[in-house]
Amino acid sequence: MAAIIAARCGKAITVVETRPEPGAKIRVSGGGRCNVLPSRVSIDDFHTEGSRHIMRNILMSWPLTDVRAFFEDDLRIPLKDEPSGKVFPISDRSRDVAEALLTALRQSGAVLRSSCRIVRIERRDAGGFRLFSSDGGKLECDRVILASGGLSLPKSGSDGAGLSMAVALGHGRVPTYPALVPLLSNDARWQLLSGVSLRARVKVECDRRTIDEAEGEMLFTHRGFSGPVILNLSRYVTRTRKVALRVHWGGCEVDDWSDALRQGGRATVASAVRRCLPNRLAALLIDHAAVEPSVRLSELRRTERDRLAEVLSRFVLPVNGSEGYATAEVTGGGVPLGEISPRTLESRVVPGLYLCGEIIDVTGRLGGYNFLWAWVTGRKVGRALATAS
Ligand SMILES: Cc1cc2nc3c(=O)[nH]c(=O)nc-3n(C[C@H](O)[C@H](O)[C@H](O)COP(=O)(O)OP(=O)(O)OC[C@H]3O[C@@H](n4cnc5c(N)ncnc54)[C@H](O)[C@@H]3O)c2cc1C
Repeated sequence: MAAIIAARCGKAITVVETRPEPGAKIRVSGGGRCNVLPSRVSIDDFHTEGSRHIMRNILMSWPLTDVRAFFEDDLRIPLKDEPSGKVFPISDRSRDVAEALLTALRQSGAVLRSSCRIVRIERRDAGGFRLFSSDGGKLECDRVILASGGLSLPKSGSDGAGLSMAVALGHGRVPTYPALVPLLSNDARWQLLSGVSLRARVKVECDRRTIDEAEGEMLFTHRGFSGPVILNLSRYVTRTRKVALRVHWGGCEVDDWSDALRQGGRATVASAVRRCLPNRLAALLIDHAAVEPSVRLSELRRTERDRLAEVLSRFVLPVNGSEGYATAEVTGGGVPLGEISPRTLESRVVPGLYLCGEIIDVTGRLGGYNFLWAWVTGRKVGRALATAS
């Protein structure tokens, strides 16, 4: 995006790409469909350790309707809104998005140097930069845009080398962590639920205080927990590990479950819980509460009912880590927002160096927000370069 915008304005741009072609992540995104944008945007859809005010100003600099018009009218990719609030190409093919961007790049006049990995960036005494590639090559330029992504999905070409180069040039680094990532459990009983999914409300607790919560689809995997609600909250686990994820199964509070169990009459514990939850999960939770599943609710002792209601409404997930960068959709942390000019995204530490996309310490939630950040910041850098003397 940065290269297209700057080259269209007549700037001599060279895109250097490790892989045979840029845009590997676009191709695998959204399950091969590319969730190119969200339908709506709010500042609460993003996280940064820096100034939320600056983050908002950057995000709002290219209104969502205009970003959408760029894709539909300029790149000629018809888009559709899905009820989930996500925007996809009508074709449901992520490669259409990647190819449209590559075509626009070629037509812009930018030069693409692919299969070339940059390993070091040096500031020249006379101004400008010297870039060193892994095959021993050198590239001289007046300005550099670091659009090298984060550390997630390293096989796509983004392995954190860009961030290390920014740090080597003098930038700070907000500690990085995998985000939007499935969580692991070493409790074999939970792994047996692999394939089960349901709606759940999950609260993040730190020192017995709720610091965030989300409701949505949760999925059990053969290694632990996934689904949108888990992915969106995973960053708390990967950042601090001192949090507890407390699940309200079926989205219900303790009183809702207590009432349901009290008023169930002749129904058995198993049939009452199964009415609201998938069978295998119901069996596991009843077992966890040490209650006999065949007992009628009317015969349940009060202590048993309270114990079961507690397990059903305030259950701490047995989480012991995440799948890490190998499967994380995005990287949290990165170059601090405060070290970049909000107007041009030029580094305040290294004049002539510009940054955009995931390398910056801004992370969006699931739903097209991370691409939105990449498109908006890419365009901002492209425009800044176009007007730079
Ligand atoms: C599996 C998966 C699915 C996703 N799905 C979605 C989705 O549907 N919607 C959404 O909004 N977000 C999605 N994301 C997140 C989104 O892909 C990223 O946030 C976005 O691609 C970041 O863009 P970027 O340009 O900053 O970095 P990247 O897309 O990572 O691009 C960086 C580029 O720089 C190149 N590079 C890196 N280092 C070097 C080097 N040293 N020398 C030369 N080249 C280098 C890389 O090869 C790569 O081409 C997904 C991510 C993953 C992993």
